[in-house]
Amino acid sequence: MQTVLVTGAAGFLGSHLCDALLKSQSNVYGIDNFCTGNMRNISHLTEKGNFKFVESDISRGVPVDLKIKFDQIYHLASPASPPKYLALPIETMHVNTNGTEHLLNHIHEFGGRLLFASTSEIYGDPLEHPQSESYWGNVNPIGPRSVYDEAKRYGETLLSQYARAGWADTAIVRIFNTYGPRLDPDDGRVISSFLRNGILHKPLEIYGDGTQTRSFCYVDDLIAGLIATMESGLAGPINLGNPTEFTLLELVEQVGTVLQIEPELLFKPLPENDPRMRKPNIQLAKTDLNWEPQVELNEGLTRTAEWMKSELKSRNLG
Ligand code: NAD
Repeated sequence: MQTVLVTGAAGFLGSHLCDALLKSQSNVYGIDNFCTGNMRNISHLTEKGNFKFVESDISRGVPVDLKIKFDQIYHLASPASPPKYLALPIETMHVNTNGTEHLLNHIHEFGGRLLFASTSEIYGDPLEHPQSESYWGNVNPIGPRSVYDEAKRYGETLLSQYARAGWADTAIVRIFNTYGPRLDPDDGRVISSFLRNGILHKPLEIYGDGTQTRSFCYVDDLIAGLIATMESGLAGPINLGNPTEFTLLELVEQVGTVLQIEPELLFKPLPENDPRMRKPNIQLAKTDLNWEPQVELNEGLTRTAEWMKSELKSRNLG
């Protein structure tokens, strides 16, 4: 039986990861400071004997209660949606830099393996398409998004140096847009915003002309990829995402079909440094992890829409 720590356990991905790890009989410890997460995401786990939760800020260090050996640490704590990380710029930088370093030092002291949730955002507004792991990216180091992009890049540098020096066993995954149940309806990510507004009969807001592309990975697929990377012993970086590419206008169409509505559109100016294209090259994950996404967008959107409807009802909306 493995003892595993998940940082950001009360977030969207962290809570799904805890569910999956608990199914595989691991002892799971979760840590979160609720800066973007929600206790409701893990309330179904708190009664379980093999789940322990600690409310704490990992940027300040590993809390005393967690100064124990973990076989595996998944470092997922970090605001992830642009409106959230732009509202929490210093916290976002700290959790991906200081927070990561505290966890690396923990691994150095106690042993175990650390997986760092990096992001496709480290490719910035990419000049290579699709993006493979060998591409170094096109990031504006002083732009508003750099609080996230550059902090993740520095987190990757930290892991690489600890691994190079032989101080820690590490894995870097670069996660591309992921969606599914428990995606906060108000956090400004494109799928959550489109579904929420569609369900509430409000216009879908499109930044730019809607011809920019994104690829969307269903959460169950992504969690399987995280666990496969952890179990593989590989250092990465490894891209995890769904390589099927959609323009935002095509996404609107799919949302309309799933919700059976004719969405009204509201076009807004494109934010600074918004990437034009996003699509992972996942050849490495296919060959080295035997991993590739299984859930098609239509199916994933249907499952997410069902959850979103009941979530909005529970908030007396919708
Ligand atoms: P989320 O905002 O839903 O979850 C992040 C969790 O981390 C939240 O519960 C938050 O409260 C917690 N947290 C933040 N700072 C903390 C701190 N200092 N100490 C303790 N807890 C803290 O985001 P998510 O979508 O679940 O993303 C999880 C990770 O995956 C993030 O690192 C994110 O950068 C990365 N990622 C996600 C996506 C995606 O599409 N979901 C894409 C790329 C990368």
